[in-house]
Amino acid sequence: MTAAATCEPPFATGLAPHAGTFPGHISPTSAKNYLGCPLRFWFEKIACVRKPVPPALHLGKAVHAALQAFHLARWRGGDDSPEAVAAAFGKAFHELERDEGPVGFDDEADREKARLDGLRMVAAYLDSPECLAGMPRAVEVPLREEIPGLSVPLAGTMDLVASDYTPVDFKSAASRPDPWGAAFDHEIQLVSYQLLIEAATGVTPPSLDLVFLVKTKVPQVIRVQSPPADTHRKRRVTALLETAVLGIAEGRFHPQPSMHCAWCRFKSGCMRWTPAMTLPGTERTLPG
Ligand code: SF4
Repeated sequence: MTAAATCEPPFATGLAPHAGTFPGHISPTSAKNYLGCPLRFWFEKIACVRKPVPPALHLGKAVHAALQAFHLARWRGGDDSPEAVAAAFGKAFHELERDEGPVGFDDEADREKARLDGLRMVAAYLDSPECLAGMPRAVEVPLREEIPGLSVPLAGTMDLVASDYTPVDFKSAASRPDPWGAAFDHEIQLVSYQLLIEAATGVTPPSLDLVFLVKTKVPQVIRVQSPPADTHRKRRVTALLETAVLGIAEGRFHPQPSMHCAWCRFKSGCMRWTPAMTLPGTERTLPG
């Protein structure tokens, strides 16, 4: 990334400014998680309540680490062979379980199935037309930029930035994604990456890409492309980011029941919630 571009604020969100207060910055992942359910965000990111990691999340992180190793090797001229990438997957699978676990596997057979699924997904990416062919512009580079209309800096780390400045984010999925739904679901992340690239380089990426590694019997690799955001989409996403900043800064961490509750790890704590209650076993108070 090169010199920052200067740009005039094209709009104001109209929300209260929170510069200099908690949170010190906002990432698209945090904003999406907060907006999805403020109370679940509180359990995960503020109270840091540890729960067994869902196997799908563990698998996705290990696959992500393997792809990261491959892209970094391409970028730095290291060992990008399938054997090296498979070894990176195995190392991540083991170390993530040790450092962030326990993982909620049913038994050892379930664990081994997940490990083999991950190896197949990584191999499918390396064999696919979506595999990085040339030299990327950046891999896993953290950016933190002031964005017009946002009262704290926007921070994010893109999996991959292609040579033409297209940001690419990799996702693991259990089933084939619907392209429109996938782009809509990840709009905050995709547009945030565009905002970061534009602020850092002055360049508008030609496309905003997601690459899904689908854990079907024969793994599939599917690219979903979204056109660069216009002013309306940027304004909408900036306002969503600012809404999360405002809610976190003001301590609004209420439950937000939805279909996601079915696989939420904090249901029992959620059922005990009342505004300003104390989390059992801790000194922490749940704000309303
Ligand atoms: S059970 Fe639902 S409402 Fe409660 S914390 Fe989890 S996602 Fe939020």
